Amino acid sequence: MLRKWYQLMVDNAEDLAKLITWENGKPFADAKGEVTYAANFFEWFAEEAPRVYGDTIAASIPGNRVFTIKEPVGVCGLITPWNFPAAMITRKIGPALAAGCTVVAKSPGETPFTAAALAELAHRAGIPKGVVNFITALQNTAEVGSTITSSNTVRKVSFTGSTGVGKLLMKQSADTLKKLSFELGGNAPFIIFDDADLDTAVTGAITSKFRSSGQTCVCANRIYVQSGIYDEFAEAFTEKVKGFKVGGGYEEGVTHGPLIHDRAVSKVEKHVRDAEQQGAKVLIGGQKMPDLGENFFQPTVIRDMTTDMQLAHEETFGPVAGLFKFETEAEVVKNANDADVGLAGYFFSRDLQRCYRVAEALEVGMVGINTGLISDPAAPFGGVKWSGFGREGSKYGIEEYLTIKTITLGGM
Ligand code: NAD
Repeated sequence: MLRKWYQLMVDNAEDLAKLITWENGKPFADAKGEVTYAANFFEWFAEEAPRVYGDTIAASIPGNRVFTIKEPVGVCGLITPWNFPAAMITRKIGPALAAGCTVVAKSPGETPFTAAALAELAHRAGIPKGVVNFITALQNTAEVGSTITSSNTVRKVSFTGSTGVGKLLMKQSADTLKKLSFELGGNAPFIIFDDADLDTAVTGAITSKFRSSGQTCVCANRIYVQSGIYDEFAEAFTEKVKGFKVGGGYEEGVTHGPLIHDRAVSKVEKHVRDAEQQGAKVLIGGQKMPDLGENFFQPTVIRDMTTDMQLAHEETFGPVAGLFKFETEAEVVKNANDADVGLAGYFFSRDLQRCYRVAEALEVGMVGINTGLISDPAAPFGGVKWSGFGREGSKYGIEEYLTIKTITLGGM
């Protein structure tokens, strides 16, 4: 059924992408890319379901035989954000169903229709009523959240969203001792060393920073450039940003869409003004785009950033690239790790020893070396520190929805 659901998503990719663009705003081509990425979780976990293995264990007690089986954890409450209206849902439902769980998925208030379309496709795939349940909530989100977390029927909560809401849900889940997986906020460091290939680094930074107008949890947020390459990088990077076309997601040639709502625009603007007031220089952008609509903000590049600015400590979640200058590897690793969160981190270098050293030193759950694209259904996705715990995708993703039962047979 999961395989069939995957196929239905592929067959209806155009319509799903239209819905995603309509309610999220991302350009249609990006929305289509998301549908493929989202559907792949169903295919991947449909293939992984037969590989849920137990163990045979040599018992310490004579006469006993010990083995384990894995069982579905039970009913799962799934709560997801709007930035990937389809993929954040399928990344949870895929492994949950593959493990044998049933789910109650609360879709985000900003993008409920993509979720509704997925529900319809689940129905067409033959998934029995009651196995996959979708809830929409707008005014009463908190009430729905506390109902899910306080229910004893729900045995697990998997949440993707902000760190603040994650902490709240964790507290609310304490009384019913749920199994939890949390994919929370990031503030990704993106480091370019002097020995990097400039073109690759610029392309990687553009992809990582400006995908979905900066509204992904693994987006580069703090771009650290070593002093020997700083000016050259700033110039080449800004030049690329000049080529962006901002507009409505259905418009031909549009590369970047709006932000999700006015609160997002306000936060982005706050980070830009704060940086400017403290001496940073805007190289391009920096303003709202009222002619296009109230949720549009210009793709922005700022140089001469310093570590005491707001952008250095808070996830911007918007199209603003702040460039920090650094001198040494030790200094940049220290600054990169100076964050409560640790989701993704990136760096560009052609020195093999440095690649190992820095990858090991970064306090994050995922590292991209010489690439700005790290999301893959086959690779574990997740963070450390306040970016949460648990992994999605990959063979580890299914474990989040399973429990181990130990069976001991005596009298042998
Ligand atoms: P958010 O935490 O406000 O909302 C996420 C989801 O939680 C939505 O469905 C929302 O309706 C729901 N929610 C909000 N308050 C709730 C409550 N009291 N009880 C139950 N549910 C509640 O986050 P957002 O602003 O929509 O999304 C952006 C955040 O998500 C960013 O911080 C981003 O980094 C993070 N994110 C993380 C990942 C990841 O995999 N780590 C992926 C995407 C987004």
